[in-house]
Amino acid sequence: MKLKDGIDLRHWNKLTEMLFAERNRQINKFGVQEWDSHKWNSILTEEVGEFAQSIIDYDSNESAESLDHVIEEITQVSMVAINILDCLLQKKEEEYL
Ligand SMILES: [Mg+2]
Repeated sequence: MKLKDGIDLRHWNKLTEMLFAERNRQINKFGVQEWDSHKWNSILTEEVGEFAQSIIDYDSNESAESLDHVIEEITQVSMVAINILDCLLQKKEEEYL
């Protein structure tokens, strides 16, 4: 079943589970991250690069494992983007509200 915006509801719980698992992985590895926008941009750009590499790898070796790697990398990109959004919302609350 799809929402009107195209998100498949069957995947929604899985998506949120994956993002929380990735958030826990990042916190365990790096601690709670609170960077300025330039540092966040560097981190996000690095992750996007890893995502791009995983697509190239999948193109040359299509397999369930290589597709899992693509999914892993875009999950990391997504969680970094959510972390950035969280930091910006916190900054807005602290400085402008
Ligand atoms: Mg990555």
